[in-house]
Amino acid sequence: MTTPLIGTSWKMNLTPSLAAAYCTALRALVADVEDRTLFVLPPFTAIPAARAALAGSNVAWGAQDVHPLDSGAHTGDVSAPMLADLGCTFVEVGHHERRRDHREDDELIARKVAAVQRWGMTAILCVGETSKTTIAAAEKHVSDQLRRAGEFDIARLVIAYEPAWAIGVGAESAPSDWVAGVHAAVHRRLENLTGGRSVPVIYGGSVDLDGAAPLLATAGVDGLFVGRHALTAEGFARIAHTPPVGGAPEAAVAPRT
Ligand code: PEP
Repeated sequence: MTTPLIGTSWKMNLTPSLAAAYCTALRALVADVEDRTLFVLPPFTAIPAARAALAGSNVAWGAQDVHPLDSGAHTGDVSAPMLADLGCTFVEVGHHERRRDHREDDELIARKVAAVQRWGMTAILCVGETSKTTIAAAEKHVSDQLRRAGEFDIARLVIAYEPAWAIGVGAESAPSDWVAGVHAAVHRRLENLTGGRSVPVIYGGSVDLDGAAPLLATAGVDGLFVGRHALTAEGFARIAHTPPVGGAPEAAVAPRT
């Protein structure tokens, strides 16, 4: 039996006080969830509050970014050993907003994946095309973004397919056939690069309560990465409880720890 991965990044939202309230509420709301791996990615400042509220629960916590180096003169940055010391399980790298706002490229992002894995955490590597053209173009784009994936520790890797055009206020989730096509391409690419070993591939981009079930039932979708519709504990908990259309999840894989 495999386990879908369902998580949220709060982006630049929620103070430490609000994070404590969110996580305390979430812990109780999802205590009955046994068939999903759940995680929250607060801003750096709120990770200690998340840890305090979630330690010993069925919700893991992590971070939204990391510096590729372990220490040094890098004002304002946060390193992988700092995150590991805070008990982080997952660290997101390569989100579209980091690529767009901080000019991060695939080479830098690969170094960040390596840093995360060096410290025993699982990297959630975001890939996705910026504009909506064709499924074939999207497949090529994400395949190119994954060209370094053969160098990564596959046991500590999750891929998040997040088409930029499907992210954020005013956007809509990518349709199921699009998601199925690109996820199949990501799985094929990863299997080629890793000698057939499987890597979980989760979908993110305007996932809401209505969309969660059909997405979880889409072939090749191993979980969901939720943004604005999980900015309350109740919102995240409802999505965490969503049964997939048609019953048991298919093709879902838990991250190895
Ligand atoms: C995201 O940007 O990673 C994301 C999933 O955001 P949203 O769900 O708000 O589109």
